[in-house]
Amino acid sequence: MLQTRVIPPAEGAYQYPLLIKRLLMSGARYEKTREIIYRDQLRYTYPTLIERVARLANVLTAAGVKAGDTVAVMDWDSHRYLECMFAIPMIGAVIHTINVRLSPEQILYTMNHAEDRFVLVNSEFVGLYQAIAGHLTTVEKTLLLTDAPEKTAELPNLVGEYESLLAAASPQYQFEDFDENSVATTFYTTGTTGNPKGVYFTHRQLVLHTLGVSTIMGAIDSVRLLGTNDVYMPITPMFHVHAWGLPYVATMLGLKQVYPGRYDPEYLVELWRREKVTFSHCVPTILQMLLNAKAAQGSDFGGWKIVIGGSALNRALYEAAKAKGIQLTAAYGMSETGPLVSCAHLNDELMAGSEDERTTYRIKAGVPGPLVEAAIIDAEGNFLPADGEAQGELVLRAPWLTEGYFNEPQKGAELWEGGWLHTGDVATLDSMGVIDIRDRIKDVIKTGGEWISSLDLEDLISRHVAVREVAVVGIADPQWGERPFALLVIREGHAIDARELKEHLKPFVELGHLSKWAIPSQIALVTEIPKTSVGKLDKKRIRIDISEWQASNSTFLSTL
Ligand code: AMP
Repeated sequence: MLQTRVIPPAEGAYQYPLLIKRLLMSGARYEKTREIIYRDQLRYTYPTLIERVARLANVLTAAGVKAGDTVAVMDWDSHRYLECMFAIPMIGAVIHTINVRLSPEQILYTMNHAEDRFVLVNSEFVGLYQAIAGHLTTVEKTLLLTDAPEKTAELPNLVGEYESLLAAASPQYQFEDFDENSVATTFYTTGTTGNPKGVYFTHRQLVLHTLGVSTIMGAIDSVRLLGTNDVYMPITPMFHVHAWGLPYVATMLGLKQVYPGRYDPEYLVELWRREKVTFSHCVPTILQMLLNAKAAQGSDFGGWKIVIGGSALNRALYEAAKAKGIQLTAAYGMSETGPLVSCAHLNDELMAGSEDERTTYRIKAGVPGPLVEAAIIDAEGNFLPADGEAQGELVLRAPWLTEGYFNEPQKGAELWEGGWLHTGDVATLDSMGVIDIRDRIKDVIKTGGEWISSLDLEDLISRHVAVREVAVVGIADPQWGERPFALLVIREGHAIDARELKEHLKPFVELGHLSKWAIPSQIALVTEIPKTSVGKLDKKRIRIDISEWQASNSTFLSTL
């Protein structure tokens, strides 16, 4: 250990813990009149937000919530969710943001595993809650969240309805200091294999993540997504990695915030127009839905900056959004990373390049943000060169990564093997530090002795004019180990078959961008591609579907 100079603090010096309550102080200072908006139901200013957080803290405390308890929320994106993201951790409890899009069995599993003691339930989920209530092992009390307080809803052990409880509570609460390493939030990975795993974040981590995101998105000139005059609307659910942490950032900076409730593309476009939204974030499939919305036809979205993460951003989607005036910026992260790790960034050299080159870099996962360390390793754990060529597993260090999986020490130790967080993603790093995600390790297609990136193939296929959506997976093949298989949704008025797709891909093979083994010998033309609970391509479900179709020789399969 180095003998550094550590000076004990002066007597009485305040030891400032990094707590979520600190994030609530500054917003109102910047603009007292800025509003938090919930659909067309409610709008209020920052001083009211602060007051409502105190009221909620009083309600929860009176209901028996104690420091260390887990309080779960089942809601669509709302001002109530924002209030919970503050009040619950601020009284020392842990907010469990339930993924309401999981199956009832998985929701039940996560609630029992997280040891939820209190649950705030939106009236839309009352039926679902009642169906699982008999199997919940730790829940003691419930609170009702509703847009229509006049309608009654039956919930077991109900404390009351949120708005009436808040109205009756005191607007003052003395939030105590406590250890910044206390857990503040927890939620579950979407778990494509086995049960979802619980990740968790401390106050300190969330404060640092908030500062990190503000720096990455607010201070780097080629990114510049977020300033105090922006109008924020999440389009990544608040249950999915706390809407990527942006509600904390927006509140700290005092932005006007717009919460859209349950996502309906037509309504999102209406809210965007009405509230003059300038900043959002979402996964690619949601953006695709927005662009396809009736209300989006003929709209110019000029001035709307959208961060795209959660899945690779392909060139076709980037171009389609750009044609509509949307400025897209790719970012990378995962549930385990809080989530933000990197954001697309163009240095002066790249800025001076061709438009095509700039697009190439705008759609990559980008440069790790301040305080983030990224490296790539081979299967034996050796570090690989950052030369833009070598491919290996991306491993990370940052002060806001989950330090394990709740109550699963073995899985946590695997996540952190060798002192680095293992992402399960294959990537290259270049000398500038740009991360290029090549694929999930388990989605890489191993065929004819070569490794093919399903993401590369999806990107190239999506450039065909007839293709509206595409997913590529590897399917077991007795001769080649695996063969790529493409699922396509075709644009209206267009047609394509396996032969036409081969013709489209051939030039990329000739240019050396693609291995000849990457040309799918079979494709399926479908009306919809299965998605996970957070709107990503559900490759596990797709593989199951394909083997069933192949067994039954379905008519929508097209073979070379
Ligand atoms: P989740 O934990 O559900 O948020 O999923 C995280 C995973 O999404 C990562 O491990 C990546 O495989 C994928 N992902 C996130 N951002 C990107 C990106 N910009 N490009 C490619 N894949 C991404």
